[in-house]
Amino acid sequence: MTLDYIIDFTMALAQKQVPKLNEVQTLLNCSVTDLPRGNIIIQQRPGMFMLRVFDNEKGKALENKKVTHFLPGDKLGKNPIVVYIRKKQARPRYVNPKYITVWDTSSSGLAGYVTNEMLTNFFKKYGTILEPVQDVNVLSENVWALDKKKFRIDLDQQIHIPRKCPIEVITKAGEKVNGDLRVTYKDQPYFCRRCVKEHGGDCPKWMEDKQRLEEIKEQKARETETIIIGDSNLKRVNSNAILADVVSSSGAKIGHIANQMKFESIENYKNIVVFCGVNNIPAMHDAIDSDKLWNQVQTEITHLEINLKPHVTEGRNVMITPVPNAPHTKFSKNILI
Ligand SMILES: [Zn+2]
Repeated sequence: MTLDYIIDFTMALAQKQVPKLNEVQTLLNCSVTDLPRGNIIIQQRPGMFMLRVFDNEKGKALENKKVTHFLPGDKLGKNPIVVYIRKKQARPRYVNPKYITVWDTSSSGLAGYVTNEMLTNFFKKYGTILEPVQDVNVLSENVWALDKKKFRIDLDQQIHIPRKCPIEVITKAGEKVNGDLRVTYKDQPYFCRRCVKEHGGDCPKWMEDKQRLEEIKEQKARETETIIIGDSNLKRVNSNAILADVVSSSGAKIGHIANQMKFESIENYKNIVVFCGVNNIPAMHDAIDSDKLWNQVQTEITHLEINLKPHVTEGRNVMITPVPNAPHTKFSKNILI
């Protein structure tokens, strides 16, 4: 078992003058006779140190021992700074402590009426106030003013503070003024559109969907043997719903798809489905040279076939789907496909 003590210089000294960790080690060696061996000193924050020792006679005797520190300016040693070694107090236990931010008081209609004290009193109904309401001043290069207040509360009443918190204030003249404060804190319940109700933390439905997607992903990685590669007609295909990976290139003609195949790991699949050709059909009002067009299409098809041939040789199933049987894919002004 060990004992924890606190040596706190922050109350006696300005932050700039508190001793550093290595100085505290020396101070302890000089000030405390019988300092137990095997101790550990940990700086908790500047000026505040924790001393951990073994729980034995020497360890127990440390309580209330003096640590004397002389500041560099005190050459004659006339103003010793004396700090006592105190037992570390157990932290108070809170039910649900929260740092809470109150926003936009000025636009709530309460500006000029409501004070921080009033707000502190108002929030008492939600729990035990640990630190009262105070303004947060943010003044930096980029932020020049922010209407923000902060306080700390232990929400031990089992009720939450709503995001839009209605408040009624009685002015000095005895008038009642109503307004809404925007209040936020970590894990505050919110209205979830997915569940259509208020809850805090992660949305259970979202978690469920996420897990389902993970399962699908895993199943797909295990069982997928098919790749479907094609133009934007595949854009809306939900590849989570089918056991195939879908590659869709908007506006791709046959040649583009042939090129795209080089960038996919086609060799990992057993079946290759190619879906293209719609973008090779000229638009209604395009001026078309029919011979040129067919030459172009033929070149692209040849290109595709060359790219597919090794896969056929290696035993993969290749399917080339025909262009969908819709009027706009069959007729153009100048050409009939
Ligand atoms: Zn939800």
